[in-house]
Amino acid sequence: MSDSSAVDTVTTTGLVSLRDVNKHFGDLHVLKDINLSIGKGEVVVVIGPSGSGKSTLCRAINRLEPIDSGTIMLDGQPLPGEGKALAKLRADVGMVFQSFNLFAHKTILQNVTLGPMKVRGQSRSEAEENARALLERVGVAAQADKYPAQLSGGQQQRVAIARALAMDPKVMLFDEPTSALDPEMINEVLDVMIGLARQSMTMIVVTHEMGFARKAANRVVFMADGQIVEEAEPERFFTDPQTKRAQDFLSKIL
Ligand code: ADP
Ligand code: MG
Repeated sequence: MSDSSAVDTVTTTGLVSLRDVNKHFGDLHVLKDINLSIGKGEVVVVIGPSGSGKSTLCRAINRLEPIDSGTIMLDGQPLPGEGKALAKLRADVGMVFQSFNLFAHKTILQNVTLGPMKVRGQSRSEAEENARALLERVGVAAQADKYPAQLSGGQQQRVAIARALAMDPKVMLFDEPTSALDPEMINEVLDVMIGLARQSMTMIVVTHEMGFARKAANRVVFMADGQIVEEAEPERFFTDPQTKRAQDFLSKIL
């Protein structure tokens, strides 16, 4: 991968590809020459210490955060800067955050139908039919007419996943989707994500859940200090990390 021609190939063929991406917050260099390509149907787990730039990376991919240099492409197209094209791009990139971010004053069903009606131009009946099927798929169909506060954290996060899927995204980004959950709810969310991975959804998942990485990921990307320090297939990464930084990190979380 250090061979630049290899990087050229992967960054031009990926569904999501980042090339020489740099981002600063003031003097802080938070993304340093990031080169990363994610193929269609690939599941990439991003792991690394707090502050290493994982969330910024996710936010850069759907342009919640502007970058200073480099290029990010989705399905062969550079990310648009603004306007309708940007709204469409955002719809193509489903995002699930640590804090579920549901609309508190809308029902579960409304949370899932709003985007498809507004951005995808679906009729209410079409959007509701899709939404009910998705709520069924993530196991919360019975909660459709409730409000987010009436659901457990695990249920809310599954609704957040259904809401993202309702836009029929090309790729799903998950930023520590289980780290705000009580332990007994973590698996119900991970199981939904494992199901998605098995159905060949392209996914970028920031998580320290090794069980998920082992079951569902094709690749682990280890970030430290704004850089991609190591990339490997999960079993190899967890059992035989090559860099001292990855070894140190794993010795703390295992
Ligand atoms: P991670 O998700 O790996 O914990 P982040 O991407 O959230 O890391 O943050 C990377 C670095 O950028 C951290 O040092 C963080 O404090 C800093 N940072 C993140 N967002 C901002 C911001 N909006 N303004 C200034 N600094 C930020
Ligand atoms: Mg983060």
